[in-house]
Amino acid sequence: MTSLSQISDLAAQQGLAVLGGFRAGPEDGLPQGCQTLLLLGPLEPGFWARFTLSPEWQDGAPDPMDRWSRRVVGHLACGLGAKALFPFGGPPWHPFYSWAVKSGQVWESPVRLLVQRDAGLMVSFRGALALKEALDVALPSPSPCEPCARPCLTACPVSALGPDGYDVPKCHAYLDSPEGAECMTQGCAVRRACPVSIAYARLPDHSAYHMRQFHK
Ligand code: SF4
Ligand code: SF4
Repeated sequence: MTSLSQISDLAAQQGLAVLGGFRAGPEDGLPQGCQTLLLLGPLEPGFWARFTLSPEWQDGAPDPMDRWSRRVVGHLACGLGAKALFPFGGPPWHPFYSWAVKSGQVWESPVRLLVQRDAGLMVSFRGALALKEALDVALPSPSPCEPCARPCLTACPVSALGPDGYDVPKCHAYLDSPEGAECMTQGCAVRRACPVSIAYARLPDHSAYHMRQFHK
């Protein structure tokens, strides 16, 4: 039987980290026979350098990161006899938000975005492995938000993202203005304000890519 640490090593060889996992129950909407779900996201440092060498980035075709994810997570799943699931490509959409919270390694932040133990507000999921084996997953961790001064609540220059959630049109309007250039090139100021995100080492180029995808 493959262990969590062996799967983490295999994922790391592909530039991915296991960001959370849980023992599956009938309420999770997972494929029949799935006993454990593992959520995968970029492994830092080094993810962007690895990804930009990939054929999906180099070919210039649309959606390189989703295509990279399908290939890499799909290959991992094949080797493990698992099923690969993705947060894109719906409908139907898989409930990555609730799966992440169930893992005990990811929480709803004060601004309602997910915050992960190591990636903070920079968390993103590139896919998940639905495994037939019942693995010992990590025990729930304490949320980093409990002892935090909560700079995320006030970091948005136009209060588009705060305790009441996300005013997406307001955010887009700001990104259209010259003042929005910093968010476009460095990443969302709210995500960057999180002390856990700051320690995560995601490169600005990677954040700028996601900003361009969001603000097309
Ligand atoms: S800034 Fe603090 S409160 Fe906000 S998401 Fe990060 S850890 Fe949690
Ligand atoms: S991208 Fe900038 S404007 Fe939009 S929510 Fe984040 S900080 Fe606010």
